[in-house]
Amino acid sequence: MEVTILGSGASLLSPDRVSSGLMVEIAGEPLIFDLGAGVLHRLSCSLIEITKIEHVFISHLHIDHVSDMIALLQSLWLSGYDKTLNVYGPSALMKMATNLGEIFPYLQGKVKLKHHQVEPGFQAKSKNWTVLAFPVTHGDFEAYGFHIEAEGKRVVYSGDTTPCKEMIRVAKGADLLIHECSFPDGMKEIATTHTTPGDLGKLATEAEVKTLVLTHLYPELLEELGEALTSIRASFSGKIIVPRDTQIITL
Ligand SMILES: [Zn+2]
Ligand SMILES: [Zn+2]
Repeated sequence: MEVTILGSGASLLSPDRVSSGLMVEIAGEPLIFDLGAGVLHRLSCSLIEITKIEHVFISHLHIDHVSDMIALLQSLWLSGYDKTLNVYGPSALMKMATNLGEIFPYLQGKVKLKHHQVEPGFQAKSKNWTVLAFPVTHGDFEAYGFHIEAEGKRVVYSGDTTPCKEMIRVAKGADLLIHECSFPDGMKEIATTHTTPGDLGKLATEAEVKTLVLTHLYPELLEELGEALTSIRASFSGKIIVPRDTQIITL
């Protein structure tokens, strides 16, 4: 299984980190998780043929996780895509997809879409993989994390969340936890819908994950990356990866 970090940034972009996106390839089949601004570009930078994509999972409807969805549809259409694109996400994603033809009539019917509304405990399966959606805590927003199981390995992606019990339960013993780490500890009081390094270290320790990958990195966090890693290390002794965009992690 190969995990590619497509976008490790958040809503404030930097030249080397675009918004949220992740690709998990299982036996050559790509599963996409989140499609924030810039993720389509990352995909186009020689990673895969986008027409191979048949499954897109969206964690929640904040723009930095979904804005390239429409751009992907246009690119697939222009690439002669003739498959059915399975799109998985919260109810608001269904609303967006249903109204797409009204806002962009020229896209109407150009790409065959199958919508799957995600709810807590939702599972998508193929013969090679299982993806489970679980609720995370992101203010009042309907938001999900995803647990991917394939080839005897377990990967968990947090989407956006504060540290939550459901994450610890689902991620228990996972091979890879890709978790948001948005802001430094000093901004904890204002970052009430996100996770800070000290709390992430405790969560990863309690969940006993083998490797922790930091993502959804705001510039404020990156400016204090050394302190952030020290803060995580205060409790977590497993492997930590601060990925660059397009970095591939092989499991
Ligand atoms: Zn976000
Ligand atoms: Zn969000």
